[in-house]
Amino acid sequence: MKTWLSVTLLTLCVVTSAAVREPVPDRLVVLTFDDSVASHATFVAPLLKKYGFGATFFITEGFEFATDKEHYMTWAQIKGLHEAGFEIGNHTRRHAGVAKQPPEQLAADVEYIEQQCAQHGIPRPTSFCYPGYQTSEAAVKLLRERGYRFARAGGARAFDPAKDEPLLAPQAFDSKPDSTLEQFKAAVAQARDGKIAVLTFHGVPDIKHPWVNTDPAKFETYLAHLKEQGCRVIAARDLKPYLVP
Ligand SMILES: [Zn+2]
Repeated sequence: MKTWLSVTLLTLCVVTSAAVREPVPDRLVVLTFDDSVASHATFVAPLLKKYGFGATFFITEGFEFATDKEHYMTWAQIKGLHEAGFEIGNHTRRHAGVAKQPPEQLAADVEYIEQQCAQHGIPRPTSFCYPGYQTSEAAVKLLRERGYRFARAGGARAFDPAKDEPLLAPQAFDSKPDSTLEQFKAAVAQARDGKIAVLTFHGVPDIKHPWVNTDPAKFETYLAHLKEQGCRVIAARDLKPYLVP
């Protein structure tokens, strides 16, 4: 009887601890970079290394990725980001809005980036980013079936893993040419009381898509602020302990 009771209690404890998320520390920030822009490899990654910050680079072969290797990364550069310790996430083959895609096409576009990663010795992505911030229930289902744990959508508020679906996580900041340091600080300040600030960038600079450009000098002031605040700056994959298993 005693043995049975202790085995039962032990099992209960194990089951309970497996289902419990770790508490989210204040000042937890996730950096994300979309669209495979060349400046991610040439400017952003070396600067992040200097600061000791993690980040996720969301890779697509959309736009002029195949032909314009001045403005878009090569797969060798993408592999270099992985080898430097950054996360490679999936932003789909064609960068098409998922809500308008037939299910087979969406599945193929997601799978294509996974295959490219495998071919280049990069781990299978577990983080996803919705092209153009367009989401769909079918996409969430597909991502869950394929083992994704986190997917970033649009929005303008912090991610609350206690309440939000991690496959529809909102961004707290979306860097645009006219974004200000004050706006950046306000977004980062939301990383408290269980909430996480997920921050979105495109190219730094982004020559081909000037409407999502971030000025390199301004970007440095953003990173300096994160350091000053003592933020823990991580990749999306590092959120795992804070998400419901
Ligand atoms: Zn994109």
